[in-house]
Amino acid sequence: MGRENTINTDVIVVGGGMVGSLTAAALGCCGLDVVLLEKNPPAEFNPLQHDLRVSAVSFATERMFSAVGAWDNVHLMRACPFRRMLVWDDQSEASTLFNSADIGHQHLGHIVENRVLQLALWECLRSLENVRLLCPASIEHLEVDTARAVVTLGNQTKLTTPLVIAADGARSQIRELAGLGVTGESYDQHALVATVTTALSQQDITWQRFTPHGPQAFLPLTGNRASMVWYQSADYIAELKAMSGQCFLKAMQKEFPERLGELNEVIGIGSFPLHWQHAEQYVAPRVALVGDAAHSVHPLAGQGVNMGMLDAAALVECVVGRYSSNADIGSLRSLRPYERWRKGNNAVMIKMLDGIHHAFQPDDSGAGMLKLLRTAALNSVDRIRPLNSLCMKLAMGLAGDLPRLAKGQLPV
Ligand SMILES: Cc1cc2nc3c(=O)[nH]c(=O)nc-3n(C[C@H](O)[C@H](O)[C@H](O)COP(=O)(O)OP(=O)(O)OC[C@H]3O[C@@H](n4cnc5c(N)ncnc54)[C@H](O)[C@@H]3O)c2cc1C
Repeated sequence: MGRENTINTDVIVVGGGMVGSLTAAALGCCGLDVVLLEKNPPAEFNPLQHDLRVSAVSFATERMFSAVGAWDNVHLMRACPFRRMLVWDDQSEASTLFNSADIGHQHLGHIVENRVLQLALWECLRSLENVRLLCPASIEHLEVDTARAVVTLGNQTKLTTPLVIAADGARSQIRELAGLGVTGESYDQHALVATVTTALSQQDITWQRFTPHGPQAFLPLTGNRASMVWYQSADYIAELKAMSGQCFLKAMQKEFPERLGELNEVIGIGSFPLHWQHAEQYVAPRVALVGDAAHSVHPLAGQGVNMGMLDAAALVECVVGRYSSNADIGSLRSLRPYERWRKGNNAVMIKMLDGIHHAFQPDDSGAGMLKLLRTAALNSVDRIRPLNSLCMKLAMGLAGDLPRLAKGQLPV
């Protein structure tokens, strides 16, 4: 720390969750001085405890972790690879199976606890001398002028930088302080998430069933454990959560498909309200948004954090390019290419996931049009090989204009 408690740095990243930590690690690996601010320290990894929040991590995200040296750390804790994904419509029994072997890959992705992903990145941040992790840190003030941004912390430390990256989640304080607006809507569903142990081991497959009462998903974890997700009304979820462990297991067993087999034990239960949200701009002078600070999506296809990781990778590539030519990395000229790269792609994904959510709602028209369309769509994706492969590649983050980090390379 310098005189008068002032720290000067190349970049400040606000939010040390999964996306902010990857951003800081990648910038640090490319030689920039970074300060990462996180308000809540994560609990240490304990093999006997489980984080209820898990993510389906795409192949592209795995490559980004490898590029910064964090993927081995994930495996030192735990991660469950899955090779197949089955999606079916309960009302028509139309289904689609995705199998990584069909596109020559060993797996489609991994199911990993969010805290494991965050801790794996923090381990790597601690080994980078040019990255400072300040936690717990609270932000009191953000001031932006033509030459720099000044962030004042709750303890009155001042940090000056040409660029502040907001990775502080859906309710981003930095987005608000920078005056960047959002559009969005709440869904009339919440997500019930339960970590359970199962009698059967079916660790290489994730499945998703669409029912008239909302989608249900099964995500395998290591051992005979799984994460079950049910998108349902807030009232019904409150009823389920109020049940005792055994009653809850019975209710889930009755409502979930038989193929799940017997449920032995509930390890944890929680629920999350759902909404979609999109920032009207991703950048302002000296500020850029990544991850949920820029967009939140319906989690039914497990894309939220993977989209955020692609934001991080694209922003790092734009910033590192400008930094190495001694340009002002916080100017709109440096930041707009990032916005152009990611905002349109994310808008398409938000619309697509919103469309899937609505397509699987009960069909009030009585004409059964939605059901016919769903059946046609699921059967086509199942039977038309090139379409099936394209969907897999999109979900794995292997299609489109990929940043170098998503190909497993640092952009230096
Ligand atoms: C039920 C459910 C299931 C999901 N499943 C998947 C899935 O399978 N795959 C997938 O890709 N995505 C999934 N998602 C979405 C995913 O969880 C989010 O997209 C992801 O958490 C966003 O990461 P983030 O780092 O951008 O934000 P966050 O995870 O919200 O992290 C933000 C961080 O910033 C910190 N912070 C906030 N404010 C400040 C501040 N003022 N100062 C300092 N620090 C601050 C917070 O403490 C936190 O650590 C799911 C979401 C839900 C609700």
